[in-house]
Amino acid sequence: MTIPLLRPASVITTNEVFRVASLFFYIILLVHVAMAAATQRLMFSDNSAAAVSLLLLLFLVSLGRFIWPKAVAYSQGHVLVEMGLVMLLVSMLALQRTVPSVSLSWLIAVAGVFLLPLEAIGALIAILCTVVLSFMLGTWLGTRLSDWLPQLYALVFIGLLARLLSRALKLNLSALEQAHLNERRFDAIARATRHVFMIVDARFQVKYVNPAIHEVTGFTEEEVRHLTLKSANHPDDEEEHKKKLRYLRDVPHSSIFSRHRTRHKKGHWVWVEACGYNMLHDSAIKGLVFSIEDITARKEAERRLAEEHALLRAVLDHNPSMIYAKDTEGRYTISNLSYQRRFGYSSEDALRGKTVQEVFLLQENRSPQPPACELVGQMHRQDLEVMQTGEALIDLETQGLGENEVGSWYRTNKYPLRDAHDRVIGILGIIRDITDRKGYEMRLEHQALHDPLTGLPNRRYVLKEIADAMVEYRTKKTRLAVLFCDLDFFKSVNDTHGHDFGDKCLRELTRRMSAELPSRDFVARFGGNEFVVLANASLLEASIRAEVLLNAVSRQLVIDDVIVKIQASIGIAFLHAGHNSPSELIRDADAAMYQAKEHGRNRVEIFDALLQDLSTKRAQLDVALRFALERNELALAYQPKVSLLDGSVKGFELLLRWNSPEYGLVPPNEFIPIAETSGLIVPIGLWALEQGCKQLSAWNRRYATDGLTLAVNVSMRQLLQSSFLSEVTAILKRTGVPPASIELELTETSAMANPVQTIETLSMLKKLGLRLALDDFGTGYSSLAYLQKLPLDVLKIDKAFIHGLASNNSDAEIVRLILALAQTLQLETVAEGVESAEQIALLNQMGCHLGQGYAYSPSISAQEAERLLQPAAPMTLAS
Ligand code: C2E
Ligand code: CA
Ligand code: CA
Repeated sequence: MTIPLLRPASVITTNEVFRVASLFFYIILLVHVAMAAATQRLMFSDNSAAAVSLLLLLFLVSLGRFIWPKAVAYSQGHVLVEMGLVMLLVSMLALQRTVPSVSLSWLIAVAGVFLLPLEAIGALIAILCTVVLSFMLGTWLGTRLSDWLPQLYALVFIGLLARLLSRALKLNLSALEQAHLNERRFDAIARATRHVFMIVDARFQVKYVNPAIHEVTGFTEEEVRHLTLKSANHPDDEEEHKKKLRYLRDVPHSSIFSRHRTRHKKGHWVWVEACGYNMLHDSAIKGLVFSIEDITARKEAERRLAEEHALLRAVLDHNPSMIYAKDTEGRYTISNLSYQRRFGYSSEDALRGKTVQEVFLLQENRSPQPPACELVGQMHRQDLEVMQTGEALIDLETQGLGENEVGSWYRTNKYPLRDAHDRVIGILGIIRDITDRKGYEMRLEHQALHDPLTGLPNRRYVLKEIADAMVEYRTKKTRLAVLFCDLDFFKSVNDTHGHDFGDKCLRELTRRMSAELPSRDFVARFGGNEFVVLANASLLEASIRAEVLLNAVSRQLVIDDVIVKIQASIGIAFLHAGHNSPSELIRDADAAMYQAKEHGRNRVEIFDALLQDLSTKRAQLDVALRFALERNELALAYQPKVSLLDGSVKGFELLLRWNSPEYGLVPPNEFIPIAETSGLIVPIGLWALEQGCKQLSAWNRRYATDGLTLAVNVSMRQLLQSSFLSEVTAILKRTGVPPASIELELTETSAMANPVQTIETLSMLKKLGLRLALDDFGTGYSSLAYLQKLPLDVLKIDKAFIHGLASNNSDAEIVRLILALAQTLQLETVAEGVESAEQIALLNQMGCHLGQGYAYSPSISAQEAERLLQPAAPMTLAS
């Protein structure tokens, strides 16, 4: 049985009934009046005519109402008025007796028609009025009560029926309207939703489906009606889905949930999520109801998320860096394999939720070590900082703490983690094991700061250490003594025995120094043969250390079966507030060391301000000396060399003099070393040689000066000049001086400093015919082997030994030894600094017959010297 589809428009309303009923009411009433008038041949009175006319008017109104229901208004008031009018007209016609005996019956009709559109109160009033009117008319017309009662009953009953009909129609209409509203709402929802709603019958034939089906499956609603639910599923899901559908159909009131793939019209598979409800029992539905959602996008997102997660996991776990994330409470949320392994965890879950304290301190139930506690505290502070500032912390270096992490180094970066609203929700940590690199760096740093030969700290390290000490000095007033130790004549050890040998000596000396000094002292190799010791020491302590060092260095060294003896000169300086840089402190210690060298080496000097002045003065002299030659400030003096036997003058030693307009007479011992350092000695030395030769040549021409020699001092610096030989040759040629009358004096120390080259140059000079003398013999370090190889003619015994000749036995012994040596090597000897007759006698006794010194003459001017050459004055000097 099909139920006809009802629309509110197709339902009859009270008003429609009223429109029709009222029209018919007027038609019938008018027909009634007309028939009555015709049959009874009544003549209308004026009143009757007016009443009929009015009735006709009302009829027209009701006709209009019938034809144009919307144009003619009939509200409660209108209806009541119209009803009142009708009752008045009926009463008038009844009273006119034109329509006798029907009047009351027409009132029943009035009640039936006009009560239809009225509301409850209006209807009640209307019916009461009708009853009253009917009673009054009855009374008026003399109707008996017993005749009138059935009419009353009919009137009330018809009135009530009209009311009930009106009500029933109204309820009907509103029910239909409600149903229609619901249907439209459902339709709107079913159309708007992207969910598919579907009702199928027990054979799974589609009874209803909403338009969303097209969007999900590509099939139209119509096409779907020809499909069954079972036909469109993916083979993998088929079996299970069928099972679910059977269950749903067979079990009353059951429901199912299913996730499966269904085929799209275009052929691809669509993932859907379906909920099914068995509503076969519901008489309105009589089917299985499905709500189906397309979850392909969600599935795809899930798949992509799973893939991304897997990728992230792989990136994390295959990453050699240790990676973790923590929440704002500092609890681990994410960690990768490397990080888990570092702390002995086997999975991310095992670590999740733990704090760094738990992981570090309670690992293997070890009692928390103070450094570990400190590290944990530090990490916590860093985490907080990152979360509070929202700024990353980069390259934090820490050392490993655990037993299996000894010597390990880690570098950590910490980044803030943010949510979608940019709020910091934790931190991300990435840790790299930089042990290898750190080791390399530390080795590099070590190499940069240490001397590879001795393993001691180098110059850079010393300066850095002093710089640190200066900072500390400013705040804590700590003491710092610098011992600057320079090995004397070490170069000649190298030249004599080779650099390997020298290196071995340095290593052995390093070992000795380190062994003798307290371990807290800082021992460094500052340069080739320079060592620096930094110590927190008083003046006394530093002096003791220096003496200890001198002893350690000067103890004889036996290396590769060769015995050598090395000495050192040590300068000590103390850090004070006036030092602005490490190099200033080193400069002071160096100046003191220099002083020690000047005072005869193998000794210790302590820096004082005077020394500082000295070094300043050296610098000033250096500048002045550069102009001395061109400004004619240099002069030459001559010290006679005399036969100790008879006092006859055998020659002169040429000695430089500098009369500086600024500094007065500057002693050669002061300015010669400066000239040597600056290299000025080269031009000055040549100038002196040329002047001396000129003078000698003049004397040779003027006087019979046969065999007169001129001794000229030559510095090492000059000898090392490759042009020296040619320049000497040129001077000899220019001045015409016989080479044999020139005696070049070089000091023992300078000759020995570079023996190989010295031997070569000296041999060439020798070939030119010049004589060669070794000055200051006995004070320096002489290898006898080399002495033998030097092409010498003369040994000049240093004045230090001559000085103590009469008083000091050991000096006399040395002089004796030197004379014996000279005899063996077939060398002439000259005694320097002869000051007394006693010395002359002793020297003669020992077999030294040449000398110079104040006993005969100090150095004198050329004119004075010339006087000694004049034939009038015998060429002798009284002793
Ligand atoms: P030296 O070559 O040993 O010169 C001898 C020094 O002893 C001279 O000092 C001389 O004045 C001094 N003297 C001479 N007799 C006595 C004496 O009886 N007692 C004492 N106590 N001293 C005596 P001076 O002139 O001051 O020269 C010092 C040094 O300067 C020289 O030592 C020499 O090494 C260097 N020198 C001087 N002139 C030259 C030069 O033209 N070239 C180079 N390269 N060095 C020079
Ligand atoms: Ca000399
Ligand atoms: Ca000398």
